[in-house]
Amino acid sequence: MKGKAFIAILLALATLTGCSDGNVSSNIPSQPDFSTTTDTAATETVPAENTEPSEETTTVPSDTTPPPAAEETTAETEATETTPVETDTIWTESPVQDTVMYVNTECYSRKDAFIGAEAVELYYINDEVNVVATTDTDYYKLDNGAFIHMDYLSESKTEITTTTTAATPAQPTGEGIEVINGITYVQGIMIANKTYALPSDYNPGVSSEAYNALIEMEYAAANEGITLFLNSGFRSYSDQYVIYNRYVSWDGKAEADRYSARPGHSEHQTGYAFDLNSFEESFGETPEGIWLAENCHKYGFIIRYPKGKEHITGYMYEPWHVRYLGVDIATSVYESGLTLEEYLGITSVYAD
Ligand SMILES: [Zn+2]
Repeated sequence: MKGKAFIAILLALATLTGCSDGNVSSNIPSQPDFSTTTDTAATETVPAENTEPSEETTTVPSDTTPPPAAEETTAETEATETTPVETDTIWTESPVQDTVMYVNTECYSRKDAFIGAEAVELYYINDEVNVVATTDTDYYKLDNGAFIHMDYLSESKTEITTTTTAATPAQPTGEGIEVINGITYVQGIMIANKTYALPSDYNPGVSSEAYNALIEMEYAAANEGITLFLNSGFRSYSDQYVIYNRYVSWDGKAEADRYSARPGHSEHQTGYAFDLNSFEESFGETPEGIWLAENCHKYGFIIRYPKGKEHITGYMYEPWHVRYLGVDIATSVYESGLTLEEYLGITSVYAD
């Protein structure tokens, strides 16, 4: 009972904040189906390769060293400070035959099998791990004793797809909306918001272009003493289906719609959106949050859901959620001071 209450508290903490969805346990381990590729317009398949961190990565948040305690997210700090941690009693492990699996998004392994547990080691997409057990909290246990959420491991390597984004900055005219294979592009920019949904079988995985930009930004930040790390990246339609409906069951549809996207409407399904560091609104006032807001456009990102723009973007302020647009467009959007909806002259409202 205590264990359940503990998990409920952690989940509730995550609920209070925006798109923490990827970290919340799901009943359906994500197994991206790359056999279906609907984005035939401009894709180029890069041979899946093991992106083990090379020597150059030693200056960024290290893959072997747990992040300094001071740089833990607020949510984690609060959870561990205010809640008695009974690590031995809150999950059950079921051993499985030693199985090789692959990381499908940049993520940390955790010391314990629950949300917000201490980070152990940073993994990159297609890193190979050995799974020795599963837990009833939806984690895989690795042979080194750490845990990774089931959403972040797949049985096969992830094909990384490169999608070309428009090179020319868009103008805020509201013109230029086209639908290709069920995907809406406005002036060449793929859009997933409350007005425009992605097809349920659109499952591109993380964009390698966006991912590389993220790594570049993390390096640059680290050089200035700022630690940025990925909390949640690509999420499939089925991931979002589970997440959204869980929030609806907790908070009701109206409230859930303020912070969680309905399946098909999540920007995380584009492969161009990342949630960094903390799912707390106060992240925006931390040195990391301030650095991100002031500098992310230099690496091709925008803060997608700015403060005070809920009536336009359709979502609460999310200082941790960045969207990749390429440097030119991101800089243009940043300098305009507009939301992406305003910049493109589009809406973000559910039809019902
Ligand atoms: Zn997000």
